[in-house]
Amino acid sequence: MLNNEEILGRLEGIVGKGFVSNKPEERFIYARDPGASKPRSVDFVVMPRSTEEVQEIVRLANQVKMPVVPMGGGLTLSGLTIPVKAGLVMDLKRMDRILEVNEVSRYALIEAGVTTGKLLSHLKRHHPGLEPPLPDAPPSVTVAGNVLIHGSGYLSQRYGEYASMVNGLEVVLPSGEVARLGSCAVSGSWFARGPIPDLIGLFQSSFGTMGVVTKLAIQLFPRPAVREVVFGLLSDPKLIPGLALNLSASNLVEDVLLGMQDKPDWMKGNIFVMAYVTGDSEESVKQQVKSLKRVFRESQATHMEAPGKLRAVYLEKPIFASSTADFRKGGGFEYVGAHIPLEKIPDAYNIGAEISRRHGIPATLGSRMISGTHNIVMFFSYSFNRADPADVENAREALDETNRVVLELGGIPWKGELGAQKLLLGKMDPTYKKLLRSIRNLLDPNKIMNPGNWEEDD
Ligand SMILES: Cc1cc2nc3c(=O)[nH]c(=O)nc-3n(C[C@H](O)[C@H](O)[C@H](O)COP(=O)(O)OP(=O)(O)OC[C@H]3O[C@@H](n4cnc5c(N)ncnc54)[C@H](O)[C@@H]3O)c2cc1C
Repeated sequence: MLNNEEILGRLEGIVGKGFVSNKPEERFIYARDPGASKPRSVDFVVMPRSTEEVQEIVRLANQVKMPVVPMGGGLTLSGLTIPVKAGLVMDLKRMDRILEVNEVSRYALIEAGVTTGKLLSHLKRHHPGLEPPLPDAPPSVTVAGNVLIHGSGYLSQRYGEYASMVNGLEVVLPSGEVARLGSCAVSGSWFARGPIPDLIGLFQSSFGTMGVVTKLAIQLFPRPAVREVVFGLLSDPKLIPGLALNLSASNLVEDVLLGMQDKPDWMKGNIFVMAYVTGDSEESVKQQVKSLKRVFRESQATHMEAPGKLRAVYLEKPIFASSTADFRKGGGFEYVGAHIPLEKIPDAYNIGAEISRRHGIPATLGSRMISGTHNIVMFFSYSFNRADPADVENAREALDETNRVVLELGGIPWKGELGAQKLLLGKMDPTYKKLLRSIRNLLDPNKIMNPGNWEEDD
């Protein structure tokens, strides 16, 4: 067996001296994320530049039976890139090439480290008629990290959740072999996901336990000439399902966000609605806004003329939540994301607000309609002071309680931290669980890929 210095030497031989480290300062940074998770140990940080380098690292990890944790931006907030059983964090940000933009089939073929900010600015400059799906997350997150965790964002009401917008993947399997999934498995083009048996889903929401994605093709969409946001207020969460169904039936909206916040003070006690319409001219958008106001009225939502500053913030797509999220000293926040059936959304708002207030945290709840309102993704956000361990623990308790409530409501915690994964496994159909375990054992007999995730036992 190789010792740590020999492993370091082998990794340096693969990626070059400047791109691997086992120094305490680097291990310190990668041992934590901005959320409420406790830090955990890291042995090495490595930054490959190519698929071949990823293959060599994975083969070495197999030889020495060392865990490998793939990382993009490391910003899920739920500790997903902090190793559970130490080992090696594979930071993919150097693999940041945009390899192809196909304007006709409308997809971009990119490496796994391409950030949402980079793809957005590349398209704005070179393909201004197209735009990518983008979460309201900082621009340093990766497109891969987002679609691999079933992310969603401003195109999701109209076109679906982002995971479904993946046309193809190149994956380094735990054995070190490279697999191509989607139309690219058969064709020279990455234009579609099928029609062949769909294996792409296996790599989504599996949190790096099935392999390392090195390339992906993501769908692109026509950039509208004009986008407008219309604000409304609902007096009671009970009214949300009716509004959501009416908005969906109207076919007017590209994106709908709802929120309930105790801060700032003027927002307290109402459900805040933001509905986005798009069009090819000011005139067509004006007409749509008129129709949208009618849908609001029919759904008992009061239209609200928003202050210009607020409108500007929310017209910026993606919205950077930092401008609205931080109401507490110490700057920390984490949220339970959850997919929840529409009929349970009123309960989710009421219970979420109650959990927040009981923990002394200003309620900050939000939701986004996705896939033509066949699904709602809900955010139960808890702020905390990073410098105060008791305050962080208080947020952790609120997060854990929320995960349990989500499951009781029939929802599914999204991008769940270890505790949420265990709760999900505890409720999962036993045959589903067995199938998942069998596939994982088959692909990864040495259990090197992000071990501890999606496992019931520590
Ligand atoms: C302020 C804020 C707002 C946010 N808003 C949204 C939002 O609107 N919508 C939304 O969807 N999310 C949102 N998020 C959550 C999250 O930041 C995003 O989903 C983000 O895109 C995740 O990407 P990442 O590169 O940080 O992923 P990481 O945290 O690096 O990785 C996520 C998971 O995928 C795995 N992984 C990453 N890359 C690979 C790879 N190449 N191969 C195999 N596995 C891999 C990791 O191991 C990990 O399990 C928000 C986060 C913040 C902080």
